[in-house]
Formats: sequence, structure tokens, C-alpha cells
Amino acid sequence: MEKKTPKPDSMPLPTAPAVEFNAAPATQGMQLFGLDESALVEVVASFGEPAYRARQIADGLYRQRLEALDEFTTLPLALRQQLQAAGWSIGRPRIAQVFTAADRTERYLVEVNNGQTVETVWMPESDGGEDGEDDAGGDTVRRSTICVSSQIGCAVNCQFCLTARLGLTRNLTAGEIAGQVVSVLARHSLTPETDRINLVFMGMGEPFLNYGNFIAAVRLLVEQVGISARRMTVSTSGILPGIERFAAEPAALRPRLAISLNAPSNQVRDRLMPINRKWPIGQLMDALRRMELRAHERITFEYVLLGGVTDQPAHAVELARLVRRAGLPAKVNLIAWNPGPGVPYATPDAAQVEAFKQSLIAAGVPAYLRKPRGRDIFAACGQLKRTVELSGINAPASAPA
Ligand code: SAH
Ligand code: SF4
Repeated sequence: MEKKTPKPDSMPLPTAPAVEFNAAPATQGMQLFGLDESALVEVVASFGEPAYRARQIADGLYRQRLEALDEFTTLPLALRQQLQAAGWSIGRPRIAQVFTAADRTERYLVEVNNGQTVETVWMPESDGGEDGEDDAGGDTVRRSTICVSSQIGCAVNCQFCLTARLGLTRNLTAGEIAGQVVSVLARHSLTPETDRINLVFMGMGEPFLNYGNFIAAVRLLVEQVGISARRMTVSTSGILPGIERFAAEPAALRPRLAISLNAPSNQVRDRLMPINRKWPIGQLMDALRRMELRAHERITFEYVLLGGVTDQPAHAVELARLVRRAGLPAKVNLIAWNPGPGVPYATPDAAQVEAFKQSLIAAGVPAYLRKPRGRDIFAACGQLKRTVELSGINAPASAPA
């Protein structure tokens, strides 16, 4: 397939983004990556092999990050050949293209099964918005945040979000969700035991509309890859049944929760996020109040500031009242709207953003401003839409009509 370097699109680019292409065939057949240990036990048992072989395969998939069956040298050659002959492959999602921003953020086009693509973002050093910790010491621990997609596209149709323009193609499997993380860890030679890795399920898609696969991916990431659920945050637009299921998960398998509030009232939220007409703010707050939080755990409310639409002083007053009345341990993460072609909103004025934040703090609501990351390569919040398509470049999935 012929690959071309993307032309810069209409966004101003501080520096020309670096683009890497990695060509390889799409995966076919049955994938081992994504199976948990009990499923792997069944696979090896079908070849008459004992359960400890499953542990060896899990180790190779999730900790050694092996990418081909013939690299699994702890397994007998005969078993590797039998697996291959039966149609098994590793099938870990593959980083097909890399866009590098001026701030070192990397946006990946990740190829999943059937050659379809999603986006994953890697941000060196957390901006503190997710973990809210002040642990930036002079040590040598490498900190980074990986932003993971849960669906190809999204059906929720928030008016300000570029991903919404894609509509929904399909849910990702647990292996396709967890595999984004493992591929990024492998690319940067990161180890959860020694490096500080935060995960945010804030890429393309609505995790709580793909609940089973999302939570199975969390389980793999906790139990097999070794990342604590306390280092993960899942963001939802407010899918009430998902929040209720999530609240019932065991603490060790439950990431922190962020709610995309984005408006100070039902009146404004109805317009920006049509999902609010189904599950309005009051119902969301009730569900959140029923949730049993861990010690020191806070709910994050994300609030996208749309210039002239949600960034006015009166909105800040209304938002502070709403959050305080909810009576929850909570904080607000403010995100200045990131532009996207054809999305009819304006980036808020910087002074207005600061005033908004100060107004919340003055009203007793902890508020943080999320730094935009990788805006120049369309990697920032709400900008994930396989930008190769936006700039007129053939996406790997562009099939003949
Ligand atoms: N679908 C989930 C998770 C992904 S979106 C959700 O909506 O919560 C992650 C965050 O980006 C959400 O809080 C969303 O409100 C925000 N967002 C969407 N479009 C944006 C844009 N253009 N600029 C800034 N933030 C945006
Ligand atoms: Fe979907 Fe989240 Fe974008 Fe809304 S903001 S359209 S839920 S990805």
C-alpha cells in the first residue's frame, strides 16, 4: 500500500509533526492477546497441555510483550506449531502510525482486528489533572499517561466533540483495549513496577456503552500487566446503567471515575450533550452519591469551556453551586475547548478561563486546568478522529468503494 506524508491541515502547526509509518499485515484468525488465564487454560487443555502452560503464555503476552508465537521459547516447539496450525496468533494491536507533537505527546493510529484503526495517545509526564498528586520529586521515575480508546468512533453525539463526527463503527474487544496500553509500554520500554504509568480511558468512544469489554480490559491490565486501578481513570458522558454497574465492582478493579459534566445546568447540557435528555444531571448525582468511594477518593467532573457558551462568570457560579449541592467529594477539571474542523465552537479566552477557575476555588470547589496536550497533532481531548482522514490522506482502512 502506498503511504504518503500527511499535508498539514488547517490547524496552525508550531513545528512540522514527525510521522512514522510501520507497515505490517493485518491480523487474522483467533487471537491469544486479550484472553485471561482461565481462557488460556482452556486453550492449552485442548492440546492436552497442563495449566502452567497458560501461565507461560500469559507471561509472554502481558509481561514480556512478545509479538509472535515463535518468540514463546518457554513453550515446547510442538505446542507452538499446534497453536499456529489451529489458527491461533498473538494478535496484539499494532501501532501503525506515530504523530509526534512539539510537547513530545505522541498520537498513535493503532490497527486492531480486521485492519480497522483507533487512536491512542501517550503523554510523557502527567499534568497532575488525573491523579491530583503533588509527587513531582527529583527522582528518576518516569511518569507518563496513556489515553486509551474503548470504541471505534462514538454514538453519543456531543456537539463539541470531533470523535462524535465518526458515529460508532463498533465496540473494541478487551484485548484491543488492553493491547493499546501494552503496545505503548513496549514502544517506550516502560515497566509498571518501576515507571509511573497513569491510564485514562478518555480516547475515542464511550467506555460505559462497551462496559463488559472495558471492565475485562481493566482486569487484564490490573492482574496481568500490573497497573493498579488507582492509577486509572475512566471518563463517562453519564451512562447511568454503566455507572451503577461500575459502582458494584470490587475496589481493586475499579478505576477512578470522571464525569463529563460540561454544563452547569440541564438547560445547557441538553443542548450540548443530547444524552442528558435521557439521564439528566439530578439522576447522575443521585447515582454518584450511592457509590461507595475509597478513602480520599474524589469524583472528577470534567468541564469543557466553550467560548461564549459555557465559560461565562454566571456559569462558574452556577457550576460551583451544583457541585457543592451534590455533596460529594469532588473536584472539577477544566478543559479549554480544543478546536476541530467543522465543529462550530470557539476556544475560550485565557483570562476568562483563569477567572472561571478562580471563581470555583473561591466558592470552595477544587478546580484544576488541564493543559492541552498535543493540540498541533490533533491528540488533545475531543480531537481524536484518525486525522489522516481529515487531512485528505488515505487511512489504512480505506477500502475500495
Ligand atoms: N466518551 C467519554 C470519554 C472520552 S472524551 C466522555 O465523554 O467522557 C474525554 C473528555 O474530552 C470528555 O470530558 C469530553 O467532554 C472532552 N472533550 C470532548 N471534545 C472536546 C474538545 N473538543 N475539547 C476539549 N475537550 C473535549
Ligand atoms: Fe463520545 Fe465522549 Fe466525544 Fe461525547 S465527548 S461524543 S461521549 S467521545
